[in-house]
Amino acid sequence: MEESKPIYVTQPALPPLEEFTEYLKQIWENKILTNNGPFHRQFEKELAEYLGVNYLSVLSNGTLALITALQALRITGEVITTPFSFVATTHSLWWNNIKPVFADIEPDFFNLDPDKVEAAITPQTTAIMPVHVYGNPCNLERFQQIADTYGLKLIYDAAHAFGVKVDGQSLLNFGDLSILSFHATKVFNTIEGGAIICHDEKMKQRIDYLKNFGFAGETTVIAPGINAKMNELQAAYGLLQLKYVDDNIAKRKAIADSYRVQLKNVAGIRCLSDIEDVHHAYSYFPVLVDSGIYGKTRDELYEELKKHNIFGRRYFYPLISQFPTYRGLPSSKPENLVVAEEVADKVICLPIYPTLSNDEIIFISEIIKNGKC
Ligand SMILES: *Cc1c(COP(=O)(O)O)cnc(C)c1O
Repeated sequence: MEESKPIYVTQPALPPLEEFTEYLKQIWENKILTNNGPFHRQFEKELAEYLGVNYLSVLSNGTLALITALQALRITGEVITTPFSFVATTHSLWWNNIKPVFADIEPDFFNLDPDKVEAAITPQTTAIMPVHVYGNPCNLERFQQIADTYGLKLIYDAAHAFGVKVDGQSLLNFGDLSILSFHATKVFNTIEGGAIICHDEKMKQRIDYLKNFGFAGETTVIAPGINAKMNELQAAYGLLQLKYVDDNIAKRKAIADSYRVQLKNVAGIRCLSDIEDVHHAYSYFPVLVDSGIYGKTRDELYEELKKHNIFGRRYFYPLISQFPTYRGLPSSKPENLVVAEEVADKVICLPIYPTLSNDEIIFISEIIKNGKC
């Protein structure tokens, strides 16, 4: 393997250009660029069918999907969430004037720990916002039970969980609302984009109003909505992506399987295993470095890979609770987030994307094996 070509943690999958230009011709002809046009309507319909959900609204990105989801449920006060995620999860609370309360994660799959969530509930708590980190399902039953017991809303940040199924059922059908991101770096991309999944027609209507300034008619504005509409070019592009996403996920699975074989006997390197009865989408391939056994720290391995032009990413380091906006919160104290702090110091996500070759996987794995002292 020659070393010159950089290998990044991901590379976006694009639909065939010829197919996209056919759709562009239609857009140029009908001159409908946005505002719930024909491609938008068709994309929402086909995407809902593909995902196995009843009500779905596409938006311009995942962050606005989160912000709009909180508006749709009129969430206020405090929301309990995880520090082990992409910053947008917590930023969406900030933009709604909601106080984030961080709770610790579980050590097996790094999702929010329901017991820690229950312990963090106060009279100001109105909702729980867990993340299906790396697409691995949260403890769905326990979160619903806590939400029911305390009268809280449950919003899942499912940005990593496109296409994930539990016992044949879409993971997006749990909780009050789930959000997706279709950013270029995700398993399924519309360049930028996102969606909110809900469970009844009225809620979808409300979300559709909110993403279009609150307009419910030509002269009726029912709420201070935002502009979070997906445009026709992205919707057309998304329709094409749907044709190829199964194939892309199958390729990701083969890559994950290959890494697991390669790294199986490397002492101090832990891969996550698949979960029985879960259909995974392999959005990330995280490994944990136990420096005491491996002989190098995660950061040393990260630098070693970089020397060979391989750019893993330390998702999620630093924790959200360590950023200036949030570090002053009482729940941000490291003593409150012991597991999250530990995982953030050990994890590195290795490159995974459909066109990553087996030679490249072996090359990356050899560096990890040889890097061992
Ligand atoms: C990508 C991501 C988002 C934000 O989505 P955008 O479409 O980039 O705005 C939110 N939460 C998580 C966990 C993400 O990974």
